[in-house]
Amino acid sequence: MQNSLWLKNVEAPILPTLSASINCDVCVVGGGLSGIYTAYLLAKKGVNVVLLEAKPAFAFGTTGHSTGKLTPQHGVIFSKLIKYFSTEEVFTYYEANKNAIDSALEVASEDTFERVDSYLYATTASGKQTIDKELYAYNELNIPGVETTETELPFDVTSALKMENTAQIHPTKFATHFLNLAIENGASVYANSRVTKIEIDEKFVLTDNDSKVSFKKLVLCTHYPIESIKGLITTKLSIDRSYLMASKTTDLLKGQYLSVESSSHTVRTALIGDTPYLIYGGGSHTAGEVEDTEVYYETLKEEMETTFNLSEPPFLWSAQDPNTPDLVPYIGQISEDTPDLYIATGYRKWGLSNSLVAGEILSSLITHENHKAAKLYSPTRDQFGKNLLKGLSTIGFVTANLAEGYLTRMEAPKCTHLGCKTRWNKGDETWDCPCHGSRFDKEGNVIEGPAVYPLKLKK
Ligand SMILES: Cc1cc2nc3c(=O)[nH]c(=O)nc-3n(C[C@H](O)[C@H](O)[C@H](O)COP(=O)(O)OP(=O)(O)OC[C@H]3O[C@@H](n4cnc5c(N)ncnc54)[C@H](O)[C@@H]3O)c2cc1C
Repeated sequence: MQNSLWLKNVEAPILPTLSASINCDVCVVGGGLSGIYTAYLLAKKGVNVVLLEAKPAFAFGTTGHSTGKLTPQHGVIFSKLIKYFSTEEVFTYYEANKNAIDSALEVASEDTFERVDSYLYATTASGKQTIDKELYAYNELNIPGVETTETELPFDVTSALKMENTAQIHPTKFATHFLNLAIENGASVYANSRVTKIEIDEKFVLTDNDSKVSFKKLVLCTHYPIESIKGLITTKLSIDRSYLMASKTTDLLKGQYLSVESSSHTVRTALIGDTPYLIYGGGSHTAGEVEDTEVYYETLKEEMETTFNLSEPPFLWSAQDPNTPDLVPYIGQISEDTPDLYIATGYRKWGLSNSLVAGEILSSLITHENHKAAKLYSPTRDQFGKNLLKGLSTIGFVTANLAEGYLTRMEAPKCTHLGCKTRWNKGDETWDCPCHGSRFDKEGNVIEGPAVYPLKLKK
């Protein structure tokens, strides 16, 4: 059912496949918004940068399967972050996202975004309490936000928290604009070039056709890092999958909405050509854990019909995103032992603005400039000590899934990342790995990593 609204009628630039050995200062792997924006900012600073993407087109991964909200209102976040970080650090998180959005929108093409307000909303009494706590955090931190019960939604809310003047984007068009700017500024960009081998000591990567890129610095923007043993990243990331759909509608909304109740729902509209669409999403579960994923699509369809009177959505899709234990992404050097290897991951379904933050932090670190948020986002930050229980539970979860796969899914193909048994996903017709989120199509080709090699399927 993978049919994202954002991949319809997008003119993706046709780019070459890497077919020779080349040298560069910085090799960025992964052409989603993180890799594209990082390559763009590096190229703009005059750095000799190469960007490699596995797929034929850029931004067709998670970026092209998101909801396209570009906002610092990352769900209920600030009242949670203050459990892990100082108020100054939490404000830095807000400020880094807000500033990164504002800077990117100054150069973004006008037909790829709109300025809109973002709302968190509640429909229950306990949801209202959640909003009250979040508003309290906004006030403590001096983050602009107002409580209201007036929304454009076709049902009553018990409370809503509005953040004004945020944005929503057409994610593939937005990313493609920055890809073109990266190329204009001198970045060398290759599609159909999956990195299959990293030699960090000898400073080169190999692509699937054995082309070699020698680098001084390597940046992994592959969503889940394809090198995840260093820095114990595999023990720190869990992954959630969610569902989205889009149906033709009559009116465009002025705001974009996210419910705060435990089964969260997202709502926005988008104008595609001359046609307004309503985008509706929800239904989260751990990636790779569910076989009957059709249920999630069916439930959303029923809700869309009941709530918005829209039936048979022509666009249905799903996507996943990694989470860190303390909710702040990992952007920076993967470990102190490997200072030339950088990652950007763990976006918790808020990776559009965080991709822009990633571009700013990574390009600053590489060119030896200061970025106020670099310490907060560092993958080597010591918060992990405080989150030991969550880390241990991730290790326990992976170990249990590894064992359970060999006991209950003997016939399922083995993931080429670390050997867990995959699970068939009926709704999307993919083989999904419950351990680290790798996904493969029914022929066994990699759809998303950390795996880099196809499955060995029995004939
Ligand atoms: C359902 C859902 C809705 C979301 N909605 C929003 C939203 O509204 N707002 C928001 O801020 N965030 C949202 N997010 C999160 C956001 O979409 C992601 O965090 C963000 O797009 C990640 O960007 P990325 O560049 O890191 O990854 P991707 O866009 O996945 O790009 C990674 C790229 O790396 C390539 N790659 C992988 N392995 C290799 C390799 N070995 N060699 C070469 N290339 C490789 C892939 O092909 C891919 O193109 C959402 C997430 C989900 C799951």
